[in-house]
Amino acid sequence: MQISPGLYRHYKGSEYFVYRIATHSETREALVVYRCLYGDFSWWVRPLSMFIETVLIDSEEIPRFDFVAPMSIAEADRRALGEGSAPQTSEEDVQWMREAMQLAERAADNDEVPVGAVVVKDGQIVGRGYNRPIGGCDPTAHAEVMAVREAARNLENYRLSGCTLYVTLEPCTMCVGAMVHSRIERLVFGASEPKSGVVHSQAQLLESPFFNHQVGVTPGVESEACQTQLQAFFKRRRAEKKRG
Ligand SMILES: [Zn+2]
Repeated sequence: MQISPGLYRHYKGSEYFVYRIATHSETREALVVYRCLYGDFSWWVRPLSMFIETVLIDSEEIPRFDFVAPMSIAEADRRALGEGSAPQTSEEDVQWMREAMQLAERAADNDEVPVGAVVVKDGQIVGRGYNRPIGGCDPTAHAEVMAVREAARNLENYRLSGCTLYVTLEPCTMCVGAMVHSRIERLVFGASEPKSGVVHSQAQLLESPFFNHQVGVTPGVESEACQTQLQAFFKRRRAEKKRG
């Protein structure tokens, strides 16, 4: 099991927030920095192996921890402060995320990593985008940037106030920048991107105080379906490569 930041449930039911995976500077041991979401909400650093281990219950091996959903440090703080659980995903969010997933399929059809995005304002899609950096010979042609560009053209406004961006994968540094520049009001994303995601995986850029615009974030909408879409693409591509 790969451990990425987010909400985990211990097999006995208690919840934990994994903040990050670190490496001990001397022993090079992989460590997990996490917080208990019960009791005194204390922070801990423990070996990564503890999170990956299975336990034997009634001669059945079950994982000690199960991944539940992505979670930002701000959400974990809210829970610790007793301000209720993470906001529930609305039906509307799921509906728009499915639109984004359909666009991601178009990227896959063109042999590009399947990421799709839509910009929604007042219950309507105003911008659509899918990943096409290779075909477009454009390193900036990520789904989010394409959707933001189309929305700005459609609304004839370089500011996208009141707009929500739905994207199937946690955004990268460039796309977070595009969201701040365009004044996107809210970001909803599907799967986490442990390697280059900067909303909660590698960094929490949108929580930076130096940005002059705040973007609200809802992570993990249809995350499993988005993850499956990506995995299916890479699996198919590996198989094609093997066949040569
Ligand atoms: Zn990007």
